Amino acid sequence: MTNIVAAMQRIDGRAANQIRPVAFELGIAPHASGSVLVSMGNTRVICGVMIDEGVPRWMKEQSVTGGWLTAEYSMLPYSTQTRKPRDIAKGRLDGRSSEIQRLIGRSLRAVVDLEKIGPRTIWVDCDVLQADGGTRTAAITGASLAVAIACQKLVDEQKLKALPIRKLVAAVSAGVLDGRPVLDLNYEEDKAVTVDFNLVATEDGEFVELQGSGEEATFSQDQLTEMLTLGRKGIAELVEAQRAAVLAASRAASS
Ligand code: UDP
Repeated sequence: MTNIVAAMQRIDGRAANQIRPVAFELGIAPHASGSVLVSMGNTRVICGVMIDEGVPRWMKEQSVTGGWLTAEYSMLPYSTQTRKPRDIAKGRLDGRSSEIQRLIGRSLRAVVDLEKIGPRTIWVDCDVLQADGGTRTAAITGASLAVAIACQKLVDEQKLKALPIRKLVAAVSAGVLDGRPVLDLNYEEDKAVTVDFNLVATEDGEFVELQGSGEEATFSQDQLTEMLTLGRKGIAELVEAQRAAVLAASRAASS
């Protein structure tokens, strides 16, 4: 049975090593310094960035120089198949959202030169418009572009001499489905996998964070190696798409 399933195509017809179609729509929130609507298949996340002058109090108290970057994540009530109440209606941020927004913040701080942004705070807001698996990874991939656009604006306004971004960062999921490692899970697959893996890496292939867990199952070294290989391939393709989106936007602006 397992062999028959392994030979089968995925639910949406993709190969095991294929990411979903990715798209970036830039500038969708004009009041934000940088904004991107990222789509990975049916998962869509709005990433908006605003930059405040000033840093959190703890930085001043501990004499930490440079700036700060912080992220917030939420799923809009109509982003899921059944309505998801806003956290504010429950009076507290749910554990999952808190874990995801900390991951987004860490991933972006790994590539932003906080010393170079000066005493400023970069606010990154990721709001899921449509959830179909991989919302945290799509949020990181989209927010990476939104932060780069917002920082470029600081350079254009001559508030910074150079872009304080070391590298682009992107993220993708992988998992073990019926014993077979697959790349970029949609929700149906996410429910069915025995191993859930999220990879965050930079444009030059350096890892920022790896999250892998066996869901009521274990996984082998070979499966881990295969998920890493798939993840690196996916991230390389996402970075290519990020670069193409920036290039298309700058061509449109100069024409
Ligand atoms: N999901 C949902 N409601 C929730 C949490 C998750 O419908 O409250 C769905 C959604 O499609 C999400 C998927 O389950 O993308 C997988 O969720 P997970 O916690 O693994 O995070 P993600 O893969 O989105 O980063």
